Amino acid sequence: MPGEAELRRLLRRIDGRGYKAYKDLAPCYRLGALELHVDHVQADPFASPSRLRVRLPAAEAGLPEELRTARVRRIALADYLARRVRLAIRDGGASKRGSGKSGLVAIDAGGQEVLERTAVALGRGFVEARLSVGLPAAGRRVRGLEAEALLCEDLPRIADRALRFERLPRGGAERFVACVENQEHLRGRLAELGLVGFVAEGSILPRESGASDRPLRRGAVPFAAPDSLRVEVELPNPRDPDDPASTRVTGLGIPRGVTLVVGGGYHGKSTLLRALERGIHPHVPGDGREGVATDPTAVKIRAEDGRRVEGCDISAFIGELPYGRSTRAFQTDDASGSTSQAANIVEALEVGARALLLDEDTSATNFMVRDARMQALVRKENEPITPFLDRVRELHERLGVSSVIVMGGCGDYFDVADTVIEMRSFAAHDVTREAREVAATHPTRRSAEAGRPLPPVTPRIPLAKGLDASRGRREVKIDARSVDALRFGASEVDLRAVEQLLDPSQTRAVGHAIWLARQRCLGEGTTLREAVEALERIFDEEGLDVLDPHRRGEARRSEAHPGAFARPRRFEIAAAWNRLRSARLRPARGDDPGD
Ligand code: ADP
Ligand code: MG
Repeated sequence: MPGEAELRRLLRRIDGRGYKAYKDLAPCYRLGALELHVDHVQADPFASPSRLRVRLPAAEAGLPEELRTARVRRIALADYLARRVRLAIRDGGASKRGSGKSGLVAIDAGGQEVLERTAVALGRGFVEARLSVGLPAAGRRVRGLEAEALLCEDLPRIADRALRFERLPRGGAERFVACVENQEHLRGRLAELGLVGFVAEGSILPRESGASDRPLRRGAVPFAAPDSLRVEVELPNPRDPDDPASTRVTGLGIPRGVTLVVGGGYHGKSTLLRALERGIHPHVPGDGREGVATDPTAVKIRAEDGRRVEGCDISAFIGELPYGRSTRAFQTDDASGSTSQAANIVEALEVGARALLLDEDTSATNFMVRDARMQALVRKENEPITPFLDRVRELHERLGVSSVIVMGGCGDYFDVADTVIEMRSFAAHDVTREAREVAATHPTRRSAEAGRPLPPVTPRIPLAKGLDASRGRREVKIDARSVDALRFGASEVDLRAVEQLLDPSQTRAVGHAIWLARQRCLGEGTTLREAVEALERIFDEEGLDVLDPHRRGEARRSEAHPGAFARPRRFEIAAAWNRLRSARLRPARGDDPGD
């Protein structure tokens, strides 16, 4: 492997030459203890940056073994190190060194959630950070001396500061890992405690603004739980690192079943629900939601008119449409509010959701309820919709699927709720008993509308032929332009309504996962559920790097970045698959879609 002297010599030699001369870089250099891997060299200073990896032997990094023993600890440690690398870059690790992206150094460290990601890899004998680097240019000429400083000095300094344990803030990694481990433990306990969600007392749920995911700092009211729903959980690590006895957490336990969140406008209902939506992942220490945990299979359900639906049996919610159109294998390129919301539920159940989260703010009114007066005016035979109100108990009782519904505007739901929580001035109150009394003294006089029992979900079989990731001359062209815009080959997938997708690197991973499933998971009669389950096994066994098609030899080097994936859940993968307009899915029972 060439060493530092060779690298310096090369960079000086190509100084002032055309930008393409950077292609002379060798795939790998040894800089002292550090290995510098050059995976991809950008074509020009304005193209997407070059991809480099800096790798330090484990013996040099000195990461304590106890921080890597369990899977959750490794994920947390890698996440922590990626954040340290980002800090080292920001704090003077590198600077602008010419035109275009010259001198840019970036790592794909996360936001407020802690996700399994590929930015930092903890290998068997090494730790490695994956970086995007803008190789310096003046106009379109190589700035070799700047590149020398960047590659031979800045990058080693960043690696030294962020990947060597002795250089990290004392106790920082341990605290981060312990906090994440506590959160995973809490989430793991929910099922046996009979809960869909837990919100610790003292949590800070509101965010800084609609555009920021950081905690609201001024005037945030810490979360308070009602006595009757207070649950205590023992944690593996102290919550406060300075107090070894602080291993208990108390908070609101939301029981499985049907839960209503009621309350006046602006009293914190949607904020609570949003915290639960995000409670499927751990959060960084200081986020305010470290004590919020939700059933990891919980799916946010909303109306999404305009979406495409393919071969989906929504007949449990939407019966025969005008002119005798069947909804047993419903197909549309432009769903209505109610049909889209029904499809979102059925698709979530299809891949194993055990909890649904709904907010009146983003639901179709006619999907949620049909009151007594409307029942009297529009006869049942002219209304295809069986409202959620008439299915939500069966979802729980027959399928074991719980619901948490934010509902400030319709008391008809009191009849079907197991638990009613009122948010009042941002504090939670248990008003279940009062709601039952109101239900008894003010009957709704509406009649239940479910004509037949809730049918089991019909599995669907995805076809390989609809999954084409090619664009132009490229075999595989998949990218995320933002968290909610996936480009898959020639298709654009609109993921704005998939609200639990939270990181563009998850979106990128979703696209590549669908492509990987096409390569490795689809067989004769494989259902969508089986395909996404197979993907989860592949991720568990082979790691997320498997998503990089370049590594698998299926795409050019420039087509992927091993360091820019974050793990999505199966629900978000299925959600994107369902929204991919070219995808073909047919019901497993053999009906043709669109009949
Ligand atoms: P609702 O859904 O009940 O109408 P929201 O959850 O949308 O209310 O909250 C209304 C406003 O109050 C939002 O701006 C939100 O950020 C803020 N908010 C919510 N919870 C708290 C809290 N615990 N402390 C301070 N502000 C809060
Ligand atoms: Mg609201």
